[in-house]
Amino acid sequence: MDCIFCKIINKEIPGKIVYEDDVCLAFLDLSQTTLGHTLVIPKKHYDSILECDKDTLGHVMNVAKDIANSYELKLNAKGFNILTNVHEVAGQTVHHFHVHIIPRYDTTDTIEINFKDNQDVYDLDEILAKVK
Ligand code: 5GP
Ligand code: ZN
Repeated sequence: MDCIFCKIINKEIPGKIVYEDDVCLAFLDLSQTTLGHTLVIPKKHYDSILECDKDTLGHVMNVAKDIANSYELKLNAKGFNILTNVHEVAGQTVHHFHVHIIPRYDTTDTIEINFKDNQDVYDLDEILAKVK
C-alpha cells in the first residue's frame, strides 16, 4: 500500500519517533504546528478513526494521553489540542488514522482552532430529532 505513515512504521522512510510499542507509533509531525506537534498512529492501517477497531483506538488514545502528560513536564506545555481529522472535507490529508497532539503554550500561538458560534443559525431541537 502506498501509505506514507505505513512507510514510517516499516522504517522505509525516517520518522522522529517519540514512542513505539506493538500496537502504535508516535512521531513528530513534520509541520510542527506548535513545538512538539506529535502524531500517534496505529501500526495496522485504518483509513480513519471510523474504521479503527475499538481496542486499538483505546490504546492509541491512552498513548496520546500519556504523551500529552509527559509534554506538560518535558516541554512545559500549558494545554493541548488533541484531535483527528476524518476525510478530506474535514482536512484529512494522510489517509492512515492519526491523532494529532498539538501542545499549546500561550494564547498567541500561531495556531487558531476556532469553533464558530452558530446558535442563531441552527435549531437544537431539529438537530436532536435527527441524531437521537
Ligand atoms: P491530516 O491533515 O491528515 O490530519 O494530518 C496529516 C499530518 O501529517 C500533517 O500535519 C502533516 O504535516 C503530517 N505529515 C505528512 N507527511 C509526513 C511525513 O512524511 N512525516 C511526518 N513526520 N509528518 C508528515
Ligand atoms: Zn498506512
